[in-house]
Amino acid sequence: MSRAAAVLSEAQTADAALRARAALVVPGGMWGHLNAARLPEGYPQFFASAEGCRVRDVDGREYIDFMCSWGPVLLGHRHPEVEAAAQAQAALGDCLNGPGEVMVDLAEDFVAMAPHADWAMFQKNGGDATTACVTIARAGTGRRKVLVARGAYHGALPWCSPSVAGVTSEDRAHLVHFEYNDVASLRAAAAEAGNDLAAILVTGFRHDMGRDLELPTAEFAKSARAACDAAGAALILDEVRTGLRLDLRGSWEALGVRPDLAAWSKAIANGYALAAVTGNDRFRDAATKVFVTGSFWCGAVAMAAARATLRIARETDVPGHIHAMGLRLREGLASLASQHGIAIRQSGPPQMPLMLFDADPEVRKGRAFCSTALRHGAFFHPQHNMFLSAAHQAADIDQALEAAAHGFRAVRELR
Ligand SMILES: *Cc1c(COP(=O)(O)O)cnc(C)c1O
Repeated sequence: MSRAAAVLSEAQTADAALRARAALVVPGGMWGHLNAARLPEGYPQFFASAEGCRVRDVDGREYIDFMCSWGPVLLGHRHPEVEAAAQAQAALGDCLNGPGEVMVDLAEDFVAMAPHADWAMFQKNGGDATTACVTIARAGTGRRKVLVARGAYHGALPWCSPSVAGVTSEDRAHLVHFEYNDVASLRAAAAEAGNDLAAILVTGFRHDMGRDLELPTAEFAKSARAACDAAGAALILDEVRTGLRLDLRGSWEALGVRPDLAAWSKAIANGYALAAVTGNDRFRDAATKVFVTGSFWCGAVAMAAARATLRIARETDVPGHIHAMGLRLREGLASLASQHGIAIRQSGPPQMPLMLFDADPEVRKGRAFCSTALRHGAFFHPQHNMFLSAAHQAADIDQALEAAAHGFRAVRELR
């Protein structure tokens, strides 16, 4: 029997069989945040299909989805209007010798949507966009130092990867760290960078894995803006995760703070691969000078999907709907937790919620809760912020809360 045939004959489920095959031909079976070792017990690694707010794994089990593909799915999986727009473009061509008309249309859409933006350019992944923002800021200022919040995620490139494996200190030589929401530490970092300050790079809110989410204070956002203005540096808002979920205009607009550059991806094309950088006229020349490109950056299908996504988000107040659904989930979880006498903390905007258990340093409670809720049909995450979509309706939330009740019972029976 071959090695592959031997592992297959022992697998109990389609998921286990795929894991066994992957272990032989994919390093570690899976890379990055999706590695099985990071998933709660019983979580599937492999998925077969999805529709609306429901995902199905390769063993045919269906879940109400609170991860939304880790952010990209905003309107629900396979939204009919987005799929129709993508298919219409696919029938004409996707990867051509250059961009189609749709690129200009989409740039116009972004400029109309985000008040800070005078222009837009497109990439594929969020990391492409955050990296391009940093490059443009350095080109525009002729300086090197970039302030980043300690623990913030901006992508998996050497300059920003959460792992140091294969990374040199030179890759990060010009980063200076500060604490999110800590004005004094931000000012100290700006002072350390001195007249070499190119940019402050900051996420829409603090969403570091495994800790309570934190909305930015107005004072912090205004201080970041002021520090950039005082130094002639660029304020870069990393909207890759927050974009279109909190406020279509940009997540700091309500605080009265506009960035010079913003990075977008995840939700902008409802699951199609697309990223964007938007910027103001101060950085237009710099964005013209830098050489940034990619073989697939002009893909017209994702751009057509993005146009439909932006239009629907605008016409149907998606942030408002997912805020209401997120609140319903939050209130339901709070009431179940108190019924079971379990202390939890919920944080973040309701559209991107996180629930952590008190006194749970090794995430035993979180994982027991999630594994049990999963068996009852709800796909939560114990440590990463979750995501609501426009496809979630009150009945879906209520059904997920029934699964959550089983999860709380399992937590109570621990120890
Ligand atoms: C996901 C994410 C990125 C990286 O996006 P990729 O598409 O995975 O490259 C960057 N910044 C933030 C805030 C993110 O959540």
